Amino acid sequence: MQTALITGASSGIGAACAKALADKGFRVCLTARRQQRLEELADQINAKHGPDRAIYFPADVTDKNARENTLKYALEKCSAIDVLVNNAGFALAGTIEELDLDEVRKQFEINTFTPMAWMQMVGPDMRKRSAGRIINISSISGKVSTPGLGVYSASKFAIEAISDAARVEYKPWGVHVILIEPGSIVTEIWDNSLSRAKAQNDQWQDSPFRDIYEVQLKHAEKLAKGQGPSVDSVTRAICHAATSSRPKARYRMPLEATIFNIFSHFPTGLRDRMMTWAFKINNKR
Ligand code: NDP
Repeated sequence: MQTALITGASSGIGAACAKALADKGFRVCLTARRQQRLEELADQINAKHGPDRAIYFPADVTDKNARENTLKYALEKCSAIDVLVNNAGFALAGTIEELDLDEVRKQFEINTFTPMAWMQMVGPDMRKRSAGRIINISSISGKVSTPGLGVYSASKFAIEAISDAARVEYKPWGVHVILIEPGSIVTEIWDNSLSRAKAQNDQWQDSPFRDIYEVQLKHAEKLAKGQGPSVDSVTRAICHAATSSRPKARYRMPLEATIFNIFSHFPTGLRDRMMTWAFKINNKR
Protein backbone atom coordinates (compact mmCIF):
# COMPACT_ATOMS: atom_id res chain seq x y z
CA MET A 1 0.00 0.00 0.00
CA GLN A 2 1.33 3.44 -0.91
CA THR A 3 1.65 6.14 1.71
CA ALA A 4 0.90 9.85 1.36
CA LEU A 5 2.10 12.35 3.96
CA ILE A 6 -0.13 15.43 4.01
CA THR A 7 0.75 18.62 5.86
CA GLY A 8 -2.03 20.98 6.94
CA ALA A 9 -4.44 18.05 7.11
CA SER A 10 -6.61 19.43 9.92
CA SER A 11 -8.88 21.45 7.60
CA GLY A 12 -9.68 22.65 4.09
CA ILE A 13 -7.76 21.28 1.14
CA GLY A 14 -5.50 19.06 3.29
CA ALA A 15 -8.37 17.32 5.09
CA ALA A 16 -10.34 16.81 1.87
CA CYS A 17 -7.24 15.53 0.08
CA ALA A 18 -6.57 13.05 2.93
CA LYS A 19 -10.06 11.58 2.56
CA ALA A 20 -9.80 11.46 -1.24
CA LEU A 21 -6.37 9.80 -1.24
CA ALA A 22 -7.57 7.24 1.33
CA ASP A 23 -10.51 6.51 -1.00
CA LYS A 24 -7.93 5.92 -3.78
CA GLY A 25 -6.22 3.26 -1.62
CA PHE A 26 -3.45 5.27 0.05
CA ARG A 27 -2.45 5.07 3.67
CA VAL A 28 -2.41 8.69 4.84
CA CYS A 29 -0.15 10.34 7.42
CA LEU A 30 -1.75 13.51 8.66
CA THR A 31 -0.03 16.42 10.30
CA ALA A 32 -1.06 19.90 11.52
CA ARG A 33 -1.13 21.63 14.90
CA ARG A 34 -4.74 20.92 15.93
CA GLN A 35 -4.63 17.43 17.45
CA GLN A 36 -8.38 16.98 17.92
CA ARG A 37 -9.10 17.77 14.27
CA LEU A 38 -6.48 15.25 13.14
CA GLU A 39 -7.81 12.59 15.51
CA GLU A 40 -11.39 13.07 14.27
CA LEU A 41 -10.30 12.89 10.63
CA ALA A 42 -8.16 9.79 11.21
CA ASP A 43 -11.09 8.13 13.04
CA GLN A 44 -13.40 8.87 10.09
CA ILE A 45 -10.94 7.46 7.55
CA ASN A 46 -10.19 4.38 9.67
CA ALA A 47 -13.90 3.72 10.25
CA LYS A 48 -14.38 3.70 6.47
CA HIS A 49 -11.22 1.90 5.34
CA GLY A 50 -9.99 -0.13 8.34
CA PRO A 51 -7.45 0.41 11.11
CA ASP A 52 -4.25 2.36 10.49
CA ARG A 53 -5.28 3.62 7.05
CA ALA A 54 -4.82 7.03 8.62
CA ILE A 55 -2.23 7.92 11.22
CA TYR A 56 -1.58 11.39 12.59
CA PHE A 57 1.12 13.36 14.34
CA PRO A 58 0.32 16.83 15.69
CA ALA A 59 3.14 19.25 14.93
CA ASP A 60 4.01 22.79 14.03
CA VAL A 61 5.66 22.00 10.72
CA THR A 62 7.71 25.19 10.74
CA ASP A 63 9.72 23.62 13.59
CA LYS A 64 12.67 21.49 12.42
CA ASN A 65 12.50 19.02 15.34
CA ALA A 66 8.74 18.66 14.96
CA ARG A 67 9.19 17.88 11.25
CA GLU A 68 11.86 15.28 12.02
CA ASN A 69 9.69 13.66 14.71
CA THR A 70 6.72 13.60 12.31
CA LEU A 71 8.73 11.83 9.63
CA LYS A 72 10.25 9.40 12.16
CA TYR A 73 6.77 8.49 13.41
CA ALA A 74 5.43 8.10 9.86
CA LEU A 75 8.33 5.83 8.86
CA GLU A 76 7.85 3.67 11.99
CA LYS A 77 4.28 3.01 10.82
CA CYS A 78 4.80 2.88 7.04
CA SER A 79 7.77 1.65 5.06
CA ALA A 80 8.22 4.81 2.97
CA ILE A 81 6.64 8.08 1.93
CA ASP A 82 5.46 7.63 -1.66
CA VAL A 83 3.63 10.94 -1.97
CA LEU A 84 4.31 14.16 -0.09
CA VAL A 85 1.55 16.76 -0.17
CA ASN A 86 3.06 20.08 0.94
CA ASN A 87 -0.16 21.88 1.79
CA ALA A 88 0.11 23.68 5.18
CA GLY A 89 -0.04 27.43 4.76
CA PHE A 90 -1.86 30.67 5.38
CA ALA A 91 -2.44 33.93 3.52
CA LEU A 92 -0.93 37.10 4.91
CA ALA A 93 -2.84 40.16 3.74
CA GLY A 94 -1.39 43.65 3.80
CA THR A 95 0.26 46.18 1.54
CA ILE A 96 4.02 46.16 1.06
CA GLU A 97 4.46 49.44 2.95
CA GLU A 98 2.43 48.36 5.95
CA LEU A 99 3.40 44.73 6.53
CA ASP A 100 5.52 43.85 9.52
CA LEU A 101 8.73 42.13 8.41
CA ASP A 102 8.48 39.50 11.17
CA GLU A 103 5.04 38.54 9.81
CA VAL A 104 6.54 38.43 6.32
CA ARG A 105 9.24 36.02 7.54
CA LYS A 106 6.53 33.79 9.10
CA GLN A 107 4.69 33.78 5.78
CA PHE A 108 7.77 32.59 3.92
CA GLU A 109 8.57 30.10 6.69
CA ILE A 110 5.29 28.22 6.32
CA ASN A 111 4.55 28.71 2.61
CA THR A 112 8.06 28.40 1.15
CA PHE A 113 10.83 27.22 3.49
CA THR A 114 8.81 24.49 5.20
CA PRO A 115 7.70 22.79 1.95
CA MET A 116 11.32 22.99 0.76
CA ALA A 117 12.50 21.42 4.03
CA TRP A 118 10.02 18.56 3.55
CA MET A 119 11.33 18.06 0.01
CA GLN A 120 14.85 17.80 1.40
CA MET A 121 13.66 15.25 3.98
CA VAL A 122 11.84 12.87 1.65
CA GLY A 123 13.88 13.50 -1.53
CA PRO A 124 16.90 11.26 -0.78
CA ASP A 125 14.73 8.18 -0.12
CA MET A 126 12.56 8.87 -3.19
CA ARG A 127 15.73 9.04 -5.31
CA LYS A 128 17.03 5.83 -3.75
CA ARG A 129 13.80 4.07 -4.66
CA SER A 130 13.56 5.86 -8.04
CA ALA A 131 9.93 6.59 -7.19
CA GLY A 132 7.88 9.23 -5.47
CA ARG A 133 5.82 12.32 -5.96
CA ILE A 134 6.07 15.71 -4.34
CA ILE A 135 2.89 17.71 -4.68
CA ASN A 136 3.31 21.36 -3.72
CA ILE A 137 0.16 23.36 -3.11
CA SER A 138 0.90 26.72 -4.65
CA SER A 139 -1.86 29.13 -5.73
CA ILE A 140 -2.95 31.23 -8.67
CA SER A 141 -1.26 33.91 -6.52
CA GLY A 142 1.96 32.11 -7.48
CA LYS A 143 1.33 33.33 -11.04
CA VAL A 144 -0.34 36.73 -10.55
CA SER A 145 0.46 39.16 -7.74
CA THR A 146 -2.43 41.31 -6.55
CA PRO A 147 -2.51 44.47 -4.38
CA GLY A 148 -2.74 43.68 -0.67
CA LEU A 149 -1.53 40.13 -1.20
CA GLY A 150 1.97 40.75 -2.53
CA VAL A 151 3.83 38.86 0.17
CA TYR A 152 1.54 35.83 0.00
CA SER A 153 2.09 35.91 -3.76
CA ALA A 154 5.84 36.18 -3.29
CA SER A 155 5.86 33.10 -1.06
CA LYS A 156 3.89 31.18 -3.72
CA PHE A 157 5.99 32.55 -6.64
CA ALA A 158 8.97 31.20 -4.69
CA ILE A 159 7.51 27.71 -4.29
CA GLU A 160 6.73 27.75 -8.03
CA ALA A 161 10.39 28.53 -8.79
CA ILE A 162 11.64 25.90 -6.34
CA SER A 163 9.30 23.28 -7.80
CA ASP A 164 10.21 24.11 -11.42
CA ALA A 165 13.89 23.62 -10.63
CA ALA A 166 13.35 20.47 -8.55
CA ARG A 167 11.15 18.87 -11.22
CA VAL A 168 14.06 18.87 -13.65
CA GLU A 169 16.68 18.03 -10.98
CA TYR A 170 14.72 14.90 -10.00
CA LYS A 171 13.93 13.79 -13.56
CA PRO A 172 16.80 11.25 -13.76
CA TRP A 173 15.26 9.32 -10.82
CA GLY A 174 11.67 9.53 -11.99
CA VAL A 175 10.59 11.55 -8.94
CA HIS A 176 7.73 13.84 -9.98
CA VAL A 177 7.39 17.37 -8.62
CA ILE A 178 3.91 18.73 -9.21
CA LEU A 179 2.34 22.14 -8.58
CA ILE A 180 -1.31 22.69 -7.70
CA GLU A 181 -2.47 26.26 -8.40
CA PRO A 182 -5.96 26.81 -6.99
CA GLY A 183 -7.90 30.03 -7.28
CA SER A 184 -10.18 31.11 -4.40
CA ILE A 185 -11.69 28.02 -2.74
CA VAL A 186 -14.03 27.91 0.25
CA THR A 187 -11.91 26.83 3.25
CA GLU A 188 -11.00 28.15 6.67
CA ILE A 189 -8.18 30.20 5.15
CA TRP A 190 -10.81 32.91 4.52
CA ASP A 191 -12.25 32.78 8.05
CA ASN A 192 -8.71 33.12 9.39
CA SER A 193 -7.93 36.04 7.05
CA LEU A 194 -11.15 37.70 8.11
CA SER A 195 -10.39 37.26 11.83
CA ARG A 196 -6.95 38.81 11.33
CA ALA A 197 -8.48 41.66 9.30
CA LYS A 198 -11.07 42.36 12.00
CA ALA A 199 -8.37 42.36 14.67
CA GLN A 200 -6.53 45.02 12.64
CA ASN A 201 -9.67 46.94 11.77
CA ASP A 202 -8.67 50.23 13.44
CA GLN A 203 -5.31 50.20 11.69
CA TRP A 204 -6.98 49.57 8.34
CA GLN A 205 -9.62 52.27 8.78
CA ASP A 206 -6.84 54.87 9.02
CA SER A 207 -4.71 53.33 6.30
CA PRO A 208 -3.97 55.24 3.09
CA PHE A 209 -4.52 51.87 1.38
CA ARG A 210 -8.02 51.40 2.81
CA ASP A 211 -9.68 51.00 -0.61
CA ILE A 212 -7.53 47.91 -1.29
CA TYR A 213 -8.39 46.38 2.10
CA GLU A 214 -12.10 47.01 1.54
CA VAL A 215 -12.12 45.09 -1.75
CA GLN A 216 -10.14 42.27 -0.10
CA LEU A 217 -12.45 42.18 2.89
CA LYS A 218 -15.55 41.83 0.70
CA HIS A 219 -13.94 38.95 -1.19
CA ALA A 220 -12.93 37.19 2.06
CA GLU A 221 -16.39 37.73 3.58
CA LYS A 222 -18.05 36.09 0.57
CA LEU A 223 -15.80 33.03 0.75
CA ALA A 224 -16.02 32.80 4.54
CA LYS A 225 -19.82 32.59 4.09
CA GLY A 226 -19.27 29.59 1.82
CA GLN A 227 -20.02 31.47 -1.39
CA GLY A 228 -17.46 30.12 -3.84
CA PRO A 229 -15.98 26.97 -5.34
CA SER A 230 -15.60 23.93 -3.07
CA VAL A 231 -12.41 21.92 -2.55
CA ASP A 232 -13.64 19.18 -4.90
CA SER A 233 -11.77 20.32 -8.03
CA VAL A 234 -8.56 20.67 -5.99
CA THR A 235 -8.80 17.18 -4.49
CA ARG A 236 -9.50 15.72 -7.95
CA ALA A 237 -6.32 17.36 -9.23
CA ILE A 238 -4.27 16.12 -6.25
CA CYS A 239 -5.57 12.57 -6.75
CA HIS A 240 -4.67 12.72 -10.45
CA ALA A 241 -1.22 14.05 -9.56
CA ALA A 242 -0.74 11.25 -7.03
CA THR A 243 -1.97 8.35 -9.16
CA SER A 244 -1.67 9.10 -12.88
CA SER A 245 1.17 7.40 -14.75
CA ARG A 246 1.71 10.75 -16.50
CA PRO A 247 1.02 13.48 -13.93
CA LYS A 248 1.03 17.05 -15.23
CA ALA A 249 3.68 19.51 -14.04
CA ARG A 250 0.97 21.90 -12.82
CA TYR A 251 -2.77 21.79 -12.27
CA ARG A 252 -4.86 24.94 -12.19
CA MET A 253 -8.45 25.13 -10.99
CA PRO A 254 -11.27 26.23 -10.93
CA LEU A 255 -11.96 27.90 -14.30
CA GLU A 256 -11.67 31.42 -12.80
CA ALA A 257 -8.04 30.67 -11.92
CA THR A 258 -7.28 29.67 -15.51
CA ILE A 259 -8.89 32.88 -16.74
CA PHE A 260 -7.04 34.91 -14.11
CA ASN A 261 -3.75 33.34 -15.21
CA ILE A 262 -4.20 34.91 -18.65
CA PHE A 263 -3.53 38.18 -16.76
CA SER A 264 0.07 37.11 -16.17
CA HIS A 265 0.68 37.21 -19.94
CA PHE A 266 -0.65 40.76 -20.40
CA PRO A 267 1.73 43.70 -20.85
CA THR A 268 2.49 45.19 -17.41
CA GLY A 269 0.84 48.54 -18.16
CA LEU A 270 -2.45 46.91 -19.16
CA ARG A 271 -2.33 44.53 -16.18
CA ASP A 272 -1.75 47.42 -13.78
CA ARG A 273 -4.66 49.40 -15.24
CA MET A 274 -6.97 46.40 -14.85
CA MET A 275 -5.81 45.81 -11.25
CA THR A 276 -6.29 49.50 -10.44
CA TRP A 277 -9.82 49.26 -11.76
CA ALA A 278 -10.61 45.93 -10.05
CA PHE A 279 -9.33 47.16 -6.68
CA LYS A 280 -11.08 50.52 -7.05
CA ILE A 281 -7.77 52.28 -6.41
CA ASN A 282 -8.37 56.02 -6.69
CA ASN A 283 -5.79 58.59 -7.63
CA LYS A 284 -4.67 60.31 -4.41
CA ARG A 285 -2.36 62.98 -5.89
P1 NDP B 1 -6.95 26.06 5.81
O1 NDP B 1 -6.76 27.24 6.68
O2 NDP B 1 -8.25 25.34 5.83
O3 NDP B 1 -5.79 25.00 6.04
C1 NDP B 1 -4.48 25.35 6.36
C2 NDP B 1 -3.83 24.18 7.02
O4 NDP B 1 -2.45 24.49 7.30
C3 NDP B 1 -4.49 23.80 8.34
O5 NDP B 1 -4.61 22.42 8.41
C4 NDP B 1 -3.50 24.31 9.38
O6 NDP B 1 -3.57 23.45 10.51
C5 NDP B 1 -2.18 24.11 8.63
N1 NDP B 1 -1.10 24.93 9.18
C6 NDP B 1 -0.99 26.28 9.15
N2 NDP B 1 0.11 26.65 9.81
C7 NDP B 1 0.71 25.52 10.26
C8 NDP B 1 1.88 25.26 11.02
N3 NDP B 1 2.68 26.22 11.44
N4 NDP B 1 2.18 23.95 11.31
C9 NDP B 1 1.37 22.96 10.89
N5 NDP B 1 0.25 23.15 10.17
C10 NDP B 1 -0.07 24.42 9.87
O7 NDP B 1 -6.64 26.60 4.32
P2 NDP B 1 -6.59 25.89 2.90
O8 NDP B 1 -6.98 24.49 2.98
O9 NDP B 1 -7.29 26.79 1.98
O10 NDP B 1 -5.03 26.02 2.59
C11 NDP B 1 -4.20 24.96 2.23
C12 NDP B 1 -3.19 25.42 1.20
O11 NDP B 1 -3.88 25.81 0.01
C13 NDP B 1 -2.36 26.62 1.62
O12 NDP B 1 -1.02 26.41 1.26
C14 NDP B 1 -2.96 27.77 0.82
O13 NDP B 1 -2.04 28.79 0.56
C15 NDP B 1 -3.37 27.03 -0.44
N6 NDP B 1 -4.39 27.73 -1.24
C16 NDP B 1 -5.65 27.95 -0.75
C17 NDP B 1 -6.58 28.63 -1.52
C18 NDP B 1 -7.95 28.93 -1.02
O14 NDP B 1 -8.63 29.81 -1.63
N7 NDP B 1 -8.44 28.26 0.00
C19 NDP B 1 -6.26 29.12 -2.87
C20 NDP B 1 -4.92 28.81 -3.28
C21 NDP B 1 -4.03 28.14 -2.49
P3 NDP B 1 -3.43 23.87 12.05
O15 NDP B 1 -4.01 25.25 12.20
O16 NDP B 1 -4.20 22.81 12.76
O17 NDP B 1 -1.96 23.81 12.31
